Amino acid sequence: MEAAQQDIQAVARERVAAAREAAEAWAARPVAERVRVLQVAGKALLEGADALASLVHEETGKPLGEAFSGDVLGVADLFAYWTAHGPAHLTARRARIPALDMPGKKGWVERVPRGVVGVISPWNYPVALPMRVIVPALLAGNGIVFKPSEHTPRSGRFLIERLRDQLGPLVGIVEGAGEAGAALVEAGPDLVHFTGSTRTGLLVARRCAELGIACETELGGKDCAVVLDDAAVERTAAGIAWGIVHNAGQDCASIERVAVHAAVADTFLPRLAAQMDATAASVPELVTPMQREIVLGQLREAIELGATVVCGGVPEGDAPIPPTLLTDVPRTARAWTEETFGPLAVVEVHDDDDALVRAANDTRYGLGGSVWGQDTGRAERVARRLRTGMVWVNNHAFTGALPDLPWVGRGASGTGITSSPEALDHLTRPRVVVVDTSTAIEPWWYPYSDSLLELMRALIERQRTGGIGATLKTLGALSRRKKDLSR
Ligand code: NDP
Repeated sequence: MEAAQQDIQAVARERVAAAREAAEAWAARPVAERVRVLQVAGKALLEGADALASLVHEETGKPLGEAFSGDVLGVADLFAYWTAHGPAHLTARRARIPALDMPGKKGWVERVPRGVVGVISPWNYPVALPMRVIVPALLAGNGIVFKPSEHTPRSGRFLIERLRDQLGPLVGIVEGAGEAGAALVEAGPDLVHFTGSTRTGLLVARRCAELGIACETELGGKDCAVVLDDAAVERTAAGIAWGIVHNAGQDCASIERVAVHAAVADTFLPRLAAQMDATAASVPELVTPMQREIVLGQLREAIELGATVVCGGVPEGDAPIPPTLLTDVPRTARAWTEETFGPLAVVEVHDDDDALVRAANDTRYGLGGSVWGQDTGRAERVARRLRTGMVWVNNHAFTGALPDLPWVGRGASGTGITSSPEALDHLTRPRVVVVDTSTAIEPWWYPYSDSLLELMRALIERQRTGGIGATLKTLGALSRRKKDLSR
C-alpha cells in the first residue's frame, strides 16, 4: 500500500474513533441540551454566511444568488427546523402490550443513535447536501465524519471547522479525492450516508455490505417533466427551463426528459426553447472537464443517431455548453438512458396521457418527476402514476429546500432519505425496552401440558371471533393454566 493511502486510512480511523468516543457522551445528554448546543452552532456557522456563499460560488462556479438560495439559506432552515421539531420525533413511544395474557409489563420503543455517521457528498451542493444529513444526525446523538468532494474542499473545511468550534471531535473531516471516501468506509463508521453518482454509490454500498456497515445512498436521476394538453404555456415553459438549466443542469433532480402532449407541442416547444436561449449567457461552465466530456458525448451520440437540435447544440471549441433541447432521440441513446448532469434535455411528443406516463417511467432511475396542467386534479392523478420518490404538479424539485419533506428516490436513484422525520429511520435504530413487574410464572414457560394448548387455542379463537364469549373462554383457559403451573 502506498504511503499516502496508508496516511489517509490512518486519518480516517483516527477521526472515526474520536467521533465515536465523543458521541457516547453526546448521546447521553438530554435531547433538550443537544438542541441548545446545535442552536449555538447554527448561529456561529451562519455568522459566516457571506463567506460561505462566496466559497461555494468560487468553487462551483454557480451564480452567487444560487449559492445563497441552493446552499446557505438551507442551512439556516435546517437548524431552525430540527431544533424546533426534531425532539418530538425522537421521543420514545409506549408499546402496546396486551394486559390480559401478558400482565405487569410495560415497554417503550426508543430511537437510539447509530454511533458515527460517515457522510460522503458531491460537489454540486457542497453545503446543503451534507448539512441535510449532519444536522439531524447530530441532533439524534450521532458523531459525524465528513468527506467533502475534492472539487469543493474549502466549503467542506469551512463547515467542519465552524462546527468543531462548538462540538469538538464529535465532528470530523477526511479530506482528499475518492480514496479518502473509500478510507472513511474502511474505517468502519456505523452508517455511511453516500450522495453521488449511481456508479460510485453502488461500489460504496457493496463494500459496506461486505463490512457489515449500514449504508444509505442518494444517487443519480433522470427526471421527466410531463406537459399535459391544458398546461399554462408561459409558466410551464419558464418552470421547465429553470428545471433543465439551473446549476448548469448539475442537479440530481434536474429535468433531463420532457414528455409533451401533442395538442400543446407546437405552442409549447418554441416557448421552452426561447426561455432556454434567454438563459444561455448566465449558465456557468460545468464543474469538471470530465463532466463536460460526458455531456458532449451524449449530445454528439444523439445527433449521430438522428436527433434534431431545437435549441443550443454542440458548442464551438471551449465555449460553455449552451442550454440544449433535442427531439427525435432514440430511446437507446445515452441522452435517454443515462444521467446527463448538464444543461441538456430530450423531448418526446405523445397523443395521450398513458403514452406520456409510459415515456416518463421508461428509465432505471426514480428520483423526481413533474406533471404540468391546469386541471390539477387530473395532473395529480397522472403524477401518482410516475415511478419516482417525489412528484410535483406544476413545479419541480424546489422541495429539496424544505426540511419537513423527504428527499427520496427509487430504483437506481438509491435507498436514502434526507430531510424530514422519515430520515430519522436511517439515522437512528429502534431500541426496545420492556420492564416486567409480574411475579408469576409465565403461562408459556415450562412445564408444557394440555392446559397450554387449551390457552393457545382460546387466544387464537379470541383474535378470530372477538366478543365477550371468546374473552371469557380465554380467562377460563388462563386460570386453568395458572393452576397447572402452581402445582
Ligand atoms: P461521485 O460519485 O463521483 O462522488 C461523490 C462523492 O464520493 C465525492 O465526495 C467523491 O469524492 C466520493 N468518492 C469517489 N470515489 C469514491 C469511493 N471509491 N469510495 C467512497 N467515496 C468516493 O459523484 P459526483 O461528485 O460526480 O456528483 C454528481 C452525482 O451526484 C450525480 O450523479 C448526481 O445525480 C448525484 N447526486 C445525487 C443527489 C441525490 O440526492 N440523489 C444529490 C446530488 C447529487 P471526490 O469528489 O473527491 O472524487
